[in-house]
Amino acid sequence: MTPIQEPSFRESVDIMFNRAVALMDLPPGLEEKIRVCNATYTVRFGVRLRGQIQTFTGYRSVHSEHMEPVKGGIRYSMGVNQDEVEALAALMTYKCALVEAPFGGSKGGLCIDPREYDEHELELITRRFAYELVKRDLIHPSQNVPAPDMGTGEREMAWIADQYARMNTTDINSKACVTGKPLNAGGIAGRVEATGRGVQYALQEFFRYPEDIAKAGLDGTLDGKRVVVQGLGNVGFHAAKFLSEEDGSKIVAVIERDGGIYDPNGINIEELRAWLAKHGGVKGYPHGQYAEDGSTLLEVECDILIPAALEGVINLGNAAQIQAPLIIEAANGPVTAGADEILREKGCVIIPDMYANAGGVTVSYFEWVKNLSHIRFGRMQRRQEEARHQLVVDELEELAASTGNGWKLSPGFKDKYLKGAGELELVRSGLDDTMRIAYQSMRAVWHNRDDVTDLRTAAYLVAIDKVASSYRAKGL
Ligand code: NAD
Repeated sequence: MTPIQEPSFRESVDIMFNRAVALMDLPPGLEEKIRVCNATYTVRFGVRLRGQIQTFTGYRSVHSEHMEPVKGGIRYSMGVNQDEVEALAALMTYKCALVEAPFGGSKGGLCIDPREYDEHELELITRRFAYELVKRDLIHPSQNVPAPDMGTGEREMAWIADQYARMNTTDINSKACVTGKPLNAGGIAGRVEATGRGVQYALQEFFRYPEDIAKAGLDGTLDGKRVVVQGLGNVGFHAAKFLSEEDGSKIVAVIERDGGIYDPNGINIEELRAWLAKHGGVKGYPHGQYAEDGSTLLEVECDILIPAALEGVINLGNAAQIQAPLIIEAANGPVTAGADEILREKGCVIIPDMYANAGGVTVSYFEWVKNLSHIRFGRMQRRQEEARHQLVVDELEELAASTGNGWKLSPGFKDKYLKGAGELELVRSGLDDTMRIAYQSMRAVWHNRDDVTDLRTAAYLVAIDKVASSYRAKGL
């Protein structure tokens, strides 16, 4: 539980924002303009379910329209409230600015426990919620483009896209009204994994800089690093899977709603996820030790802690006990402002949410562009690229044969080199590039300014500067 003296999520974001703007030279009016949330729409609607009308409360908050459309996920959770949606919308503004996705910040939420409803009921509720938002242009390809967040995924995005299309039958760009759709409904390859993939790319980039690794008191590479993950949902699962399967990291603990699993030898993430899907929890998983109070596992000795579930989980109540020297905020707002201060003083390096989980919005940006251009990435170039590579391979093989000294292309080279980039390869390349460049912009501030001692403040400085430039360009 978050201790009472802790500020709310939105206040926490504001505190972090204020710390950063104190180091900038912005006119006070502009500072205030950037900080505040422009508008929050609250809707209450009824849906007839199981023979009676049930009323639901939903929100769509627009934090900043310095660029349009505005962008941000829709969350389904009982914890959704105005404060939370506004905090998340603000983070979206800064996140989009940091990774140069040309959007303002927005966020939506519905106060619902999706596990309480069957698929048909969820479709009725989602379509009704979408109807309310579409009616007010709070879902619109050029004004406001939602995406998945906690408790929602491809299925909900497909319903939303279809609802918008039904209400805007002549809009040729209707598919661009929402991202995170399934591939067959206008989605893009690699969107489901994108946020977790982005967490992996962020860590890979961090581990390219020995000075940064040393600041966290670590050394070496991701190989063999002990990782604790909280939340084995979309983001946590993909991050843990890629880090363990591709980078050699060892997932020593996974924390879920009903407790956690600890195994110092490393957890098989696919297996645990299958167990979770089948049993609705991690309890009873036959490997490792089960801890009923999962939050105790946030405090175990490890190299990297990845909170990928909810906000406020690392707070004044447990910050002092956290042993991880490196935290990467896969979730939004998992570390409160108070905890952030305690951890900074302990020398813990925090890779902040606005950067760490920006993979989702980055690939959403690619999906939106794909929808507007009405063509899959790579469709025009792929075979041409393959044909050119074939020329080189043929030439090399001919050369090798003519020398007669037994020289051959190394095994596997031909297949790899001849394969032209399809949509998935291009999406991953664009995401990797985005994550590297954004990290480099943050670390330049982190290393070059004496008054900036952490990556979060650096990220805010980069992001706020970009938003301020947009406002200035508009004459504000
Ligand atoms: P999700 O619903 O797919 O998964 C969340 C997981 O956390 C679930 O497995 C759930 O059981 C678990 N969980 C819930 N309460 C918990 C608790 N108290 N302790 C431990 N585990 C708990 O959601 P997601 O899309 O993976 O989002 C997770 C976080 O990442 C959120 O903060 C979200 O805002 C952020 N995020 C998501 C995306 C995206 O593309 N989905 C993008 C950016 C940021």
